[in-house]
Amino acid sequence: SGKAYQFMLRTKQPAGIVTNQLYKVMDDLADEFGSGTLRLTTRQTFQLHGVLKHNLKTVMSTIIKNMGSTLGACGDVNRNVLAPAAPFKNRKDYLYAVEAADKLAALLAPQAGSYYDLWVDGEKVMSAEPPDVTQARNDNSHGTNFEGSPEPIYGTQFLPRKFKIAVTVPSDNSVDILTNDIGVVTIVNEADELQGYNIYVGGGMGRTHRIETSFPRLAEPLGYVSKDDLLHAVKAIVATQRDYGRRDDRRQARMKYLVHDWGIDKFRSVVESYYGKQFETFQTLPPWKFESYLGWHEQGDGKLFFGVHVDNGRIKGDAKKTLREIIESYQLSVRLTPNQNLILCDIRPSWKSRITKTLAQVGLLAPRHIDSLNLTSMACPALPLCPLAIAEAERGIPSILKRIRAMFDKVGLKEADSMVVRVTGCPNGCARPYMAELGLVGDGANSYQIWLGGTANQTRLAQTFMEKVKIQDFERVLEPLFYLWKARRTSEESFGDFTMRMVLLIQMPGIVAE
Ligand code: SF4
Repeated sequence: SGKAYQFMLRTKQPAGIVTNQLYKVMDDLADEFGSGTLRLTTRQTFQLHGVLKHNLKTVMSTIIKNMGSTLGACGDVNRNVLAPAAPFKNRKDYLYAVEAADKLAALLAPQAGSYYDLWVDGEKVMSAEPPDVTQARNDNSHGTNFEGSPEPIYGTQFLPRKFKIAVTVPSDNSVDILTNDIGVVTIVNEADELQGYNIYVGGGMGRTHRIETSFPRLAEPLGYVSKDDLLHAVKAIVATQRDYGRRDDRRQARMKYLVHDWGIDKFRSVVESYYGKQFETFQTLPPWKFESYLGWHEQGDGKLFFGVHVDNGRIKGDAKKTLREIIESYQLSVRLTPNQNLILCDIRPSWKSRITKTLAQVGLLAPRHIDSLNLTSMACPALPLCPLAIAEAERGIPSILKRIRAMFDKVGLKEADSMVVRVTGCPNGCARPYMAELGLVGDGANSYQIWLGGTANQTRLAQTFMEKVKIQDFERVLEPLFYLWKARRTSEESFGDFTMRMVLLIQMPGIVAE
């Protein structure tokens, strides 16, 4: 009786690692209890939409028993920990990054037994955690723990707000490292031995329209820790946010506001008082590069992997059926990327041409056959699936990208010319639009705020350019910009760099753009 409440359910898997068995289970659950589609998220997880309340227990227990989890995928706790999705078997730095992501996820997983009581009748299903994680969680040498609480790190109140961590290796920015509360970079020596980690803090995307005190922010360097200190250092950062992050205003509660208000030096010294040590100097890193891992690559163990571009992370229809068949018949494992794509792993070279052909039959093509605008774009689910959405994103982006390509053609830009476009249905910014070269953020029914000036490697914040631009007016606003870019760019200047140069020129006193 009563209303048939529908739920959105999000899984959790550090580094986007999905076993063959879990993929098949998620694919079945989507058909049986969800909307018949699987949605990949910007945090390397699955979302199932449309699960009815009376089916929740069946769905949850099935996921948990198949070594998946939903624990900590929502709420004011640490969310899914990101790490590069490439399954390189011969790159130790990548293996260390996954290991660190796993340990951080375990360290900050809610301990509440009620999760298992509720969904699998008290049966503990997850595997045992490494001893250093248990030891770090229980260590209270610097007042990082809530004594006697079943949640030694979170206490009774959990964190003021959600918390996000990404781990990566130098130069690989497939994880949008600077948009996280904590960004961790593995550092190895010349012999490929793990030495330690660089740590960034204070990134975050979410903001609220018309509230100037809310803003997207890039993470900044906190310092370096040696390899045995990572868990303690991260725990000290989380405890600082737990004890000093604002709880009176949810719009000011993310750790980025604490870092902003205090400044990095004060933030560092408070964290050090919990950590019991000083951070070492942040190590110099090479420039960041965006890696999509689409198409065919060597895994490093004689096998191959294939990065499948999934339009807006939505796996549906024939493509869903074919992916399932390939994953099942070749017994492939899967990795989800932070760009809502999927990687098929462990492919023998002799299977390559058959798999390529089968995927192509359902429109899952190698990247060279896909419009470059489409390859790097992202949109959040928005309408009708997200209760916070005020404008279209996933449903609107295909036609927006086509219109941008048509404008490019009209002003004489080439097929190879591209940019990072990201669209969200509200300023919360789940598809990280404030890092895009062109970010469209819903600010009314059919209208968007336009953000310009991010970079292709996601290292610079975009700036607001216009507000309340109606979707039917995009040509009027964007075409002149694209024309200017084509006419005035220096050689190889990206759209993001060009628009940022224009913004800086306009903002400089006494200088007016020609
Ligand atoms: Fe929902 Fe806003 Fe996130 Fe889009 S950005 S999924 S509309 S909360």
